[in-house]
Amino acid sequence: MTQSENQQNALTHDVIIVGGGPAGLCAAMYCGRGMLDGLLIERGLPGGELLNTDLIEDYIGFESILGRDLAEKMTSHAKKFGANIVTDTVESIERREDGDFDVTTQLGKVYRAPAVIVTAGGTPTKLGVPGEKEYAGKGVSYCAVCDGAFFKAETIAVVGGGDAAVEEADYLTRYAEKVYLIHRRDQLRASPILQQRALENPKIEMVWNKVVEVIHGDDHGVNQLRLRDTNTGGQSTLSVTGCFIFIGFIPNSGVIKGHFEHDAQGYIITDDHMMTSIPGLFAAGDLRVQLTRQITTAVGDATTAAIAVEKYLTVRKEQAVASSP
Ligand code: NAP
Repeated sequence: MTQSENQQNALTHDVIIVGGGPAGLCAAMYCGRGMLDGLLIERGLPGGELLNTDLIEDYIGFESILGRDLAEKMTSHAKKFGANIVTDTVESIERREDGDFDVTTQLGKVYRAPAVIVTAGGTPTKLGVPGEKEYAGKGVSYCAVCDGAFFKAETIAVVGGGDAAVEEADYLTRYAEKVYLIHRRDQLRASPILQQRALENPKIEMVWNKVVEVIHGDDHGVNQLRLRDTNTGGQSTLSVTGCFIFIGFIPNSGVIKGHFEHDAQGYIITDDHMMTSIPGLFAAGDLRVQLTRQITTAVGDATTAAIAVEKYLTVRKEQAVASSP
């Protein structure tokens, strides 16, 4: 079928949720409880970043739970209240002239709804070195708050020189005995106050002008990094049990067509109903401008967004009735 035939045959719903991480699943659960006809589109297995996380110890009510177990629990909870989940990749979200949205997918489907909640998260920038994928969740981490407590009294490394790396290196010294902060230059990019805090922290040792070339490990996880000097090209090794990588984060907001308000890094700005600057388009979770990005904040955003969608649809229906002849 052609694109215009797909649009003519668009499948209509009350609300479409893009992304099936904790925010998307929570939004689907609330939309189901609100008796809305919702559709959740997720490109992989539902669970999002939970599936890349080993143990979770900071989701209130669960002192310790495997990421994949929490993902399963959230999915079955959402389904219990009627969540309709399809596996497909969203390619674009576009607001039509009548105010409805067309959500076009890789499989060539066009789904239409008067409201969309985008919960597509973001992607931590990867180093792209051997061992990074292999030891993800087994020493390689992109989240200090999630995984720091697994490294009590251990020696670990943090990679990066921006605010995130420097702030998280400082945070990780609560747990780790020693934190190497590996930066590819001899000057940090981070703001002066964060730099000062890290440089004065006796548990942090700066490793200047080095990049990680290989992450080595065994059945127990990471045990060594191979480094390369960015000036001399010389190689060295560092024995660590953890490698936290903070070299940037890209919010997955590129599927939204048309202008929406965002900050300098591309994070979506919303109002306190989680509505973006595009009426009817809501955002929840990691791709939204906010202080911190946790499972708890993602589901909090999603709760607000789902309830706000109910109210938005009610007002929209009332307006349609009032303006009909
Ligand atoms: P960032 O500011 O873009 O810093 C990324 C860091 O990673 C830079 O130091 C960069 O080195 C390094 N890097 C990039 N690619 C690398 C690679 N392949 N190998 C090794 N190093 C690499 O990113 P961020 O720290 O995630 O911060 C993103 C934004 O969020 C910033 O605007 C930041 O101010 C904000 N933020 C603020 C706070 C806070 O205020 N408390 C906390 C976190 C984040 P170079 O310096 O050489 O380019």
